[in-house]
Amino acid sequence: MKKVLWFRRDLRVDDSMLLATEGEVLPIFIFDTNILNTLEKDDKRISFIFEQVTKLKAELQALGLDLAIFYGTPLEVFTYLKALGFGEVYVSVDYDSYARKRDEEIAELLSFYPLNDCYLFEPMEVLKKDGTPYLVFTPYYRACKELYTKFYVLGYKRGEQRLSTFDYSVLWSIKDGVKTSLPLTLDALGFERTNVELLSPQKTLERFAPKIDKYAIERDFLDIDAASHLSVHLRFGTISIREVVRFLVQLKAQGHETEPFFRQLIFREFYAYLLYHFPKLAWENYKYNPPTSNDTEAYKRFINAQTGYPLVDAAVMELLTTGVMHNRARMVVGSFFTKHLMLPWQQGEAFFAKHLLDYDASANVLSWQWCAGTGIDPQPYFRIFNPYSQSLKFDKEARYIKRFLPQLQSIPAALLHKEAYFMTQDIAGYPRPIIGHDSARKRFLSCFA
Ligand SMILES: Cc1cc2nc3c(=O)[nH]c(=O)nc-3n(C[C@H](O)[C@H](O)[C@H](O)COP(=O)(O)OP(=O)(O)OC[C@H]3O[C@@H](n4cnc5c(N)ncnc54)[C@H](O)[C@@H]3O)c2cc1C
Repeated sequence: MKKVLWFRRDLRVDDSMLLATEGEVLPIFIFDTNILNTLEKDDKRISFIFEQVTKLKAELQALGLDLAIFYGTPLEVFTYLKALGFGEVYVSVDYDSYARKRDEEIAELLSFYPLNDCYLFEPMEVLKKDGTPYLVFTPYYRACKELYTKFYVLGYKRGEQRLSTFDYSVLWSIKDGVKTSLPLTLDALGFERTNVELLSPQKTLERFAPKIDKYAIERDFLDIDAASHLSVHLRFGTISIREVVRFLVQLKAQGHETEPFFRQLIFREFYAYLLYHFPKLAWENYKYNPPTSNDTEAYKRFINAQTGYPLVDAAVMELLTTGVMHNRARMVVGSFFTKHLMLPWQQGEAFFAKHLLDYDASANVLSWQWCAGTGIDPQPYFRIFNPYSQSLKFDKEARYIKRFLPQLQSIPAALLHKEAYFMTQDIAGYPRPIIGHDSARKRFLSCFA
C-alpha cells in the first residue's frame, strides 16, 4: 500500500518517525486554508513555516525523496490523494481541538496511523493506579521519571523507502476537486515575507549548553538570557524531543545540573496530556467560573501596550515585535489580564495565539487557565502578581522594560518599579495606570468571593 507521510509538527529529517516507515511513500505538507484564511497576511509563523518547509524539501531531496506541497483543506487534499490510490496516511500526533476534528475526518477516508513523535510519553501510558489521568503535575512528573528509560529517546533511523511518482515541482492548489499548479512561493499563498530571527536547532542547543547549570536560578530574570529558546523548534518539530533529551543526558553525564530543564520539558508533556484527556479545557474552565468583565476599552489598552504598567506593556511590546515573550512576563501578563483587568482568559489566550511564534494550543490554553486560577492544578485564585514587585525582583535595572518601552528610557530604573510614580507623573508618550494595583486586587477578590 502506498503511504502518505504527512509532515505537520515534525518538519525535519533527522530522528523522524515518518522517515522510519518502509515502502512506497509520498511525503507531503499541506498549507491548510482552514487555518491560513484566519491569519493576517504578515503572520510571522507562515513565513517561518514556509522557510522550514522549503528546507525540509531540500533535505528530503538530498535523501533521494521529495516533498509534495499542497494548498487547500486537508479533506480536499486527501480526497484527491485517495482517488490516486493512496490508502494510508502516517502523521505525528496533534491534540488540539481543530487537529483532532481534522484527523477524525481524514481517518474516515484513509487508514490513519498516528505516531507519538512530538512527545516522549503517550497520553494513555502515564495513568494513576486507578487508570485515570493525573491532575497534578508533581505526581505526573514522578510517574514519568519512573517510566523513563533510555529507549524513550533512541533516535529513529531511515527506513527502506521508495519515492512515489508525483509532480513535486510546484505548489498544488486543490479546491472543489480541481487541481491547479501554483509557483512554490510565499506570495502564491497570499502571505508576505517577514523576518524571523531564529538560530538553527543545533546552534540553539549549543548556545544553551553553557547556561544549563544556572537555568533554575536565572530563568525567571527578564534581563538575563537564561532560557533555551527551543519552544519554536519544539512546536514545529524542527528538532526532535528525543534529541533534546539526549543532549541533556550527555550534559548530565558530564556532571551538569539538567533536572530543572527536564522538568520544563515534562510540563510541556503534561499540558499536552491534559488537553488530550480533557479537550474541553480549550474553552471551558475546569475549576471555578471567575468573575469577568467585558471592558473593551481595557482590552484595547492591553493589546496596544497602554495599560500604564511598565512590565505588562513591555511584555506586550516584546510579543508584538519579536513573536515571543519571556516566560516570567507571560505569567505576569496572564495574571494581570485575568485578575487586574478581569478579562476572560480566552481573550488573552486568543491574543497570544495570534502573535506567538511558539503558539501551541496545549501550553497556551493550560498556562492561561493556570494564570486565571481556573484550570487543572492552577495557581491559586487569590495569588495576584504585583507587576511592580515582579519587575523590581526580575528586572531590577529595568533593562527589559527599557528595551521594549523606549519612551521610558530616561527614567531611573528605581522609579520604574514604583506605582506612586506612575500614578502621579505625566510621562510623554505613556499613559497613567489603567487601575491601581491595590484596588484591582480588592475588586477581583471581592467579586470572586
Ligand atoms: C500565559 C502563558 C502562555 C504560554 N503559551 C505558550 C505557548 O503557546 N507555547 C509554548 O511553547 N509555551 C508557552 N508557554 C510556556 C513558556 O512560557 C514557553 O514555553 C517558554 O517561555 C519558551 O521559551 P524557551 O523555549 O526559552 O523556554 P525554556 O525555559 O528554555 O523551556 C524549555 C522548553 O520547555 C517547555 N516549557 C517551558 N515552560 C513551559 C510551561 N510553563 N508550559 C509548557 N511548556 C513549557 C517549552 O517547550 C520550552 O521550549 C506559556 C506560558 C504562559 C504563562
